Formats: sequence, structure tokens, C-alpha cells
Amino acid sequence: MSMDKNQIFRKIPKVDVLLEKEKIAEMVNHYGRENVMAGITEELGRLREALGKVQDEVAAGKALADLEDKIAKNVEKRTKPRMELVINATGTVLHTNLGRAPIAYNHVMELVQKISGYSNLEYDITAGKRGERYAHFEKLLCELTGAEAAMAVNNNASSVLLILNSLAKDKEAIVSRGELIEIGGKFRIPDVMEASGATMVSVGTTNKTHLEDYEEAITEETAAILKVHTSNYRIVGFTESVTIDELTPLAKAHDVPVVEDLGSGVLIDLSKYGLSYEPTVQDSVRSGADVVCFSGDKLLGGPQAGIIVGKKKYIDRMKKNQLTRALRIDKFTAAALELTLLEYLSEEKAIQNIPTLRMITKSAETVKKEAQKLLRVLKKYDFNAEIELVSLESQIGGGSLPLERLPGYGVAIVPREISVATFEERLRKLPVPIIARVADNKLLLDVRTIEPSQYSVIGEMLESTEAFGK
Ligand SMILES: *Cc1c(COP(=O)(O)O)cnc(C)c1O
Repeated sequence: MSMDKNQIFRKIPKVDVLLEKEKIAEMVNHYGRENVMAGITEELGRLREALGKVQDEVAAGKALADLEDKIAKNVEKRTKPRMELVINATGTVLHTNLGRAPIAYNHVMELVQKISGYSNLEYDITAGKRGERYAHFEKLLCELTGAEAAMAVNNNASSVLLILNSLAKDKEAIVSRGELIEIGGKFRIPDVMEASGATMVSVGTTNKTHLEDYEEAITEETAAILKVHTSNYRIVGFTESVTIDELTPLAKAHDVPVVEDLGSGVLIDLSKYGLSYEPTVQDSVRSGADVVCFSGDKLLGGPQAGIIVGKKKYIDRMKKNQLTRALRIDKFTAAALELTLLEYLSEEKAIQNIPTLRMITKSAETVKKEAQKLLRVLKKYDFNAEIELVSLESQIGGGSLPLERLPGYGVAIVPREISVATFEERLRKLPVPIIARVADNKLLLDVRTIEPSQYSVIGEMLESTEAFGK
């Protein structure tokens, strides 16, 4: 059957005709004219292309059908944020790719008002004049860590840059060769040192650095001694490093500040909860470090930030540094950081209310109960899969406590008709993507990082999709 293509192309609706359709007019109201026009243009382009290829009237009719729905879907997709909620079933608590520390839900709810309206971010209400954005958490940080002064910048990489630039620009900073670390995302101590304008003087060897090594390296030009906590790896065996306690008398004698980059920066002794000891910020301050910096969104469990605490005279130099203006935190961070730190006034509350702490301190017994609950929820459905409770180990992640394995439990799923790899991929494409790991040819849902309120969501999503079908 021959077709008159011109006849067919004439069936493509004109843009102004489309815009007058009720459904499209409503979309213009809802999404704005530009978005709807972009959707219409794209869908009409697709339609023209499809009609150019059709061979008969039936196919042409098919291509022309449901145009308004297609435009609606297009506009919806165009205006939907790309960043979305995912379910972290990996068990890795500080998952860098999944946004590191989740912020407590109640804190976010509290933020909504302060962020959507005006706030006293840099305004001293009592005095009726300009205030400091650090004022909201500086006293808290001092109280919690024992330091004299505090501030915060965009992330801990910025802290290191700012500290070195403020204290040691055009001078020398000494660091042990055993601490020349690389953190993920191209953060390397030698490179940051260079970017800060300080000259790096590395001392000792990879596995051993002695106090004399520091002593011999101190000159007129020395402006700081940097200690870096090797938070994301461990050197074991024939090793030796110099502690802050040992370094301080030497540094004092030469009037050189000791700076410690703690990385994770915990405020609670985690060994009480069965984890390995991780140096706390308080310990570092007490040992005599003049400046200590750490991340806001690692073990502290708050927003992304680089927190700097220490002697007032050094912190003041940083606050006055031009770089601070470029690295400063915004109101989201300032507000969320204050809420996070307020929780630490009570250790018990901090463990309960800060998601990161709650997840890493969950006992194996608690995790087992949660896994049993998830198993019960999933067993209610008739999934075409073998589903069982398994014991497993979770990680902390985020370059924190790298050797730590948290004993836990999860649910293992083995689909009967499709491969585990296909299943894993389908989970990622669910309305709320589930990010899971695969081990021993089983898909593992590690409950340590799944909120119990998400169990039924998981069940319902698996039920309503073809997750297990061929
Ligand atoms: C993670 C880490 C950093 C970088 O902190 P971010 O907050 O990710 O910028 C710097 N130093 C150490 C020792 C770290 O562990």
C-alpha cells in the first residue's frame, strides 16, 4: 500500500493548537511555558522522525497516538531533580558516593524554617548589629572539645588548605613521610601543601619517624608542624610515629604551632561501643595540638564542613585570611552543624539522634532483629526468589576506621529466573533506587543502613515491578 507522506505529516498538530488543549494549558500553568514548549518541540521532533520511517497508515496512527501524554511525560522528566533519594542497602555507613553522612530527619525539618525565611546568620540580635556566622556553633565546639576558639569552612580539605595558608605561607611546614596521605578525590597532602603556598619539609620514612627527625628539620623558616591522622589506611608492623604529646614540648620550645588533621574527628570515644579507638578531638586538644581540623560529615555525622578548633590567636588569623571568604560555609551548613553539635551535649542523645552514630553503634543483636523484620516483610510477598537471613559484615566507609568490620545481618535474595546481576540492576531502576551489594552470587540487603520505615517500601516496590520476572 502506497502512502501519501505529505498527507501524514499534515496530521502533526501545530504548536499553537497544542497549547490550546486543556491538558497542555494546565501544564503551562504548572511547569511554566518554557518547559512545556521545550517538551513539545522535542516530542514533535521525535514524531516527525518516526513518521519519516513508517511504512503504512497503521504505524503512522500509532506514532501519532498519545502525543499529549508523551509531552506530559517529557515535561515531567525535564523538570524532575536528578538528585533523588536512594535506599542504601550496602551497609557502608559513610558511603561517599551516596552522600556520606545522612542528616537527621528532625534536623532537616528544623532547618526548613530557618532556610526558607531569613535568619540571624550574621546578625547579633541582642546587640542589633552585624554578627559572625561562626557564633552559632563556636561556643558549642569550644565546650565540646576544650579548645579556645573554632570556625568552620566548606570541607576538611579546605580546612587543611586554610590552616597551612594562614600559618605557613612562604614558610616551611614539617610533616612525616608516613603521613603523606591521599584521601579520595585527589586530596594529597603534598599537593595541598603546595596550593597553600607553604614549603613542605618531609621527615622520617614511610614506616618510622622519630622526634629527632622533627627536631633536626626545624629552622628559622619553620611555621608549622603538621600531623595527619592516617584515617583511611594503617601502616602495621615495624612502625613508629611521634605523638602530639611528644611533639608539643619541642614545638613550644621553638614557638611553632602543631596542627593536627584528624580526618574523621570523633567527639565520642567509640571504643565504648565495641569499635576500635579513634582519636577524639578532645584528646588531640588535650595533648597540646594548637590547631585541630576534621570533617563535619564523617564520624561526626553532620553536614559537609571542615571544622577547625584551637588556640584563639591562630583561629583569628584564619578568620582574617582572604581565603576564608572563598571557603566559607553557607547558612544550610551553619544551621545543620549547630543542630548536630547540640546533640553532642548528651552522648546518649547523640547516639540516638545522629544517624551515622546510630548506625555504626548498632549491636549485632539489634541488626539481627531488624534483618528478621525485613525478612518477615519480604516473605509476605510471593517473590520468585530464595530469600533468607544471612550474617555479614558492614563497613564504616568514608575513609574512617578502614580496618573495622561491623558484624551484622541482612537479607540475601537469589532470584530464580534471572541472574543476580540483572536483579541488582533492576533494583537500581526502582522508583526509589535500592543500592545493594552482590556477594557469593547473592544479592545482599544489609539492614544496618536501611531505616526500618523503608522495609515495606522495599516490599511494595518489588511487588509492583517486574523485578523478578524474565
Ligand atoms: C577525609 C579527610 C580529609 C578530607 O576531608 P573532606 O571533608 O572530605 O574534605 C582530610 N584529611 C584527612 C586525614 C581525612 O581523613
